Amino acid sequence: MCVIAPRIVQEAVSPDVSVSDLATLATSDPGFAARVVSLVNSASFGLGNRVSDIRQACMLLGVRGLRNVALSLIVGDMVPLGADGNALLTISLRRAAAARLIGEALGERALDDAFTAGLFLEIGLLARARDDLAGAAQVARMPAAHRPIIERSFGFADHAKAGAKLAGDMQLPQSIVEAVARHHDPVAPAAQLAKIMWAAERVAAAWEGGDVERIRDDARRALTSVGVPGAKLEGIFQRVPEILTSAAVTFDRPVDAQSDLDQLAVDAHAQLVELNDGYEELVRRLEALLVEKETLAEDLRRANAELANLATTDALTGLPNRRAFTEALARDLARADRAGTPLSLIMVDVDHFKSVNDTYGHQSGDLVLAKVAQVMRSCMRTGDVPARFGGEEFIAVLPGAVKEGAKVVADRIRIALEATDIACAGTIIRVTASFGVAMVRGPGCRDGADRLVAGADAALYEAKRSGRNRVVMAP
Ligand code: GH3
Ligand code: MG
Ligand code: MG
Repeated sequence: MCVIAPRIVQEAVSPDVSVSDLATLATSDPGFAARVVSLVNSASFGLGNRVSDIRQACMLLGVRGLRNVALSLIVGDMVPLGADGNALLTISLRRAAAARLIGEALGERALDDAFTAGLFLEIGLLARARDDLAGAAQVARMPAAHRPIIERSFGFADHAKAGAKLAGDMQLPQSIVEAVARHHDPVAPAAQLAKIMWAAERVAAAWEGGDVERIRDDARRALTSVGVPGAKLEGIFQRVPEILTSAAVTFDRPVDAQSDLDQLAVDAHAQLVELNDGYEELVRRLEALLVEKETLAEDLRRANAELANLATTDALTGLPNRRAFTEALARDLARADRAGTPLSLIMVDVDHFKSVNDTYGHQSGDLVLAKVAQVMRSCMRTGDVPARFGGEEFIAVLPGAVKEGAKVVADRIRIALEATDIACAGTIIRVTASFGVAMVRGPGCRDGADRLVAGADAALYEAKRSGRNRVVMAP
C-alpha cells in the first residue's frame, strides 16, 4: 500500500505547491519513488529518454504529472491481487489507453490527464471489489454496456454513481468526477473530458464480450459523435492493446490485452451462434422487469402515502378527521401549557340537518357537509385546525386565541355559512349552524382535552336550546 500517494494528490491541488515540494515527498517513500521512475520510463507516459534519478523524474513529470502518477498508484493499490483483480485492472487500463488515444485524435494536449481519468472510470467497480471481489468480477465479465443493468439486477450500487461519489470524496477534479458519473449515459455528455471518457468506455467495450462487430460499430459511431475524424478511427482500435500492455508494466501485474480484435470477433461469432441470441433477449427482459419493479415500488410508495393520508383525513370534506383532531389538540395543548398561552375550541353542529337529508336526499346532505367544511376553512387562520368531529359536527382548535377572539371567528363562520348558497338536487339550499366556544390557558392545561371538549359541547347545546344559528361561550 502506497501511503504517500494520497498526500501527493492532496498537495498537488494546492495552488502554491512546487514540483520540488512534491519531489521531496516522493523521495520519502521508496516504493513511490521506484514507481515514479518506472512510470516515467514507460511508453504510456511517453518521455522517450530513460531517467533514473527520482528528483529528475519528478521535474520531468511536473506537478500534474506527479499527481497523475499518484492517482495511478491509488488505482493500482485498489485492485485486489489474483486473476479477478488482474481482469479489473485490465478493464481500467483499457479505458485509460482508449482515453489517451481519443484525446490524441482530438488534438488534446493533456493526454496524461485523459489517461488518468480513464483509469478512474471503473473506480466504482474497484471499490466494490474490495468488499466483494466475486460480485465485482461477475459484473466485469459481462459485456461492458450491460454492466449497469447487471448491477441493478444484483441490487448493487451503479458503479458510475458510486465511482463518482468516491472520486468526489478523494477530491479529484470535478471534470473527472463528472466523467465517471456519466460514462454510461445514453448520449455523450457536453464537457470535453466527460465526452472523451464516454467514448473511451465504448471503445474499451469492443474487447469485453458480446457481439464484437456490433459493439465496434457502436464505438465508431460514438467516436464520430465526439468529433474523432474518420481517418483516425481504426488507429485507435489498433493501438489500445499496445498502450494497455505498456501501461500495465508499471503496475507490475499480468494483463491480457487481447490484441487482435478481428480474431476476437471470429471467436465471439462462434460463441454467439451457440448462445443463439438468448443472452441479448435475456438482458432485454431483465431491463423490462426492472422497469416494472421500479414502477411497482413507486406505486407502492404512493399507495402508502395515500393510506397514511386516509388514516388522518376525512374523505367527504378533506378536513382532518377526529383522530387527527385529537392528536392536534394534544400537541397544541402541550404547547399552550409550556408557553402559558390560551387555546380555544369551537364546536359546530349544523342546524336541522336531518331535514336536509329527509328533504333532498343523503347525497345532498353530503354536499352540504362539504360546503360547511369549505366555509370553515376559509374563515380560519393558518395554525388553526378545523376538523370533522363526526356526522354533521365539526370542531376547530385555535391555538393562542382567547375565547372572545374565538367567538369572533365562530360568528364569522356562522354569518358566512348563513349567506352561502348551496346548489344541489336542482335547487339552492341554505343552512345555518350553532356554535359552542370554550377556552383553557396553561400551565396545567395539557391534561384538559376532555374537559375542554365537554365545555364546548355544553355551550353548543345551550346555543341549540336557545334558538340555534348562534354562538355561545362556555363560562
Ligand atoms: P339539530 O339542529 O338539533 O342539530 O338537528 P339535526 O337534525 O341536525 O340533528 P340530529 O342529530 O337529529 O341529526 C343529525 C343527522 O345527520 C342524522 C344523520 O343521519 C345525519 N348525518 C350524520 N352524518 C352524515 C353524513 O355523513 N352525511 C349525511 N348526509 N348525513 C349525515
Ligand atoms: Mg348533531
Ligand atoms: Mg345538527
